[in-house]
Amino acid sequence: MNTTGHIERDDLVLFAMQLLSREETALAAAHIEQCPECRRELAEVQGDLAIYAMTVDMQTPPAEAKERLLKQVAHEKKIIPIDIAQEPVLPGPSFSGRRSLSDDDLPQRSFAGSVFPWLGWALAAGLAVTTGNFYLQRTALQGSIAEQKDQIAQLTVDAATAHQVMETLTDRNAMRVTLTKAQAAPVPQARATYVADKGTLIFQANNMEQLQPAKVYELWLIPANGSSPIPAGTFHPDERGYASVIMPPLPKGVQAKAFGVTIENEGGSQTPTLPIIMVGT
Ligand SMILES: [Zn+2]
Repeated sequence: MNTTGHIERDDLVLFAMQLLSREETALAAAHIEQCPECRRELAEVQGDLAIYAMTVDMQTPPAEAKERLLKQVAHEKKIIPIDIAQEPVLPGPSFSGRRSLSDDDLPQRSFAGSVFPWLGWALAAGLAVTTGNFYLQRTALQGSIAEQKDQIAQLTVDAATAHQVMETLTDRNAMRVTLTKAQAAPVPQARATYVADKGTLIFQANNMEQLQPAKVYELWLIPANGSSPIPAGTFHPDERGYASVIMPPLPKGVQAKAFGVTIENEGGSQTPTLPIIMVGT
């Protein structure tokens, strides 16, 4: 325990790796049980170990997790000997007896303890794979991955549907039939579907007359607040008189009083040229 009464980070790493002596483990566990701060830090340490352990067989472990782990490892130059469990526990509340060992104590340490290279900690991290904590974390991770997969699958379905709608609406080979009162001659007819909040507009027209060369139809959004008509795209009908304007760039939130169509010079205009040949309110 450090001067603030909490378990030192290094000890938490050892605890997570199950490398503390039985007595130290018991003391640490007792403290962690009633200290949210140390629990939080332990969770962080376990996260690092789990991420590192999980990526042992991958070529590029997450650099940040690896760096954080190895920094802790490098910081602790003296590796706890495996036989520390046989050492007496120092009196008092501290279970950090290991740290009270100075260089003078080195000869008393086991060979394994004194020469165990610090890289061995990475191996120990690998062993953490077997801990229940890691299993739980991986299970939770897998759960959240599965959840995300479901969401992605749903989004993919939505996107595919939207794509099909657009494809059907805009397919050059689509058959477009305008149904009118029987025996009435076909007249130019158009439908605008507009969502003011989103500024989205789909416009489709049938039976449009062919234009003179260098002329173009232009669609206008006529705002409800009386301000100037907003150009909403130009279009040419195909040989069967069909035309569409799909999602022209429009400002969001403009309430429309009406939509109109004019004939303009090729390239379109910023103000409508009268007369308005089609209008719908
Ligand atoms: Zn604490």
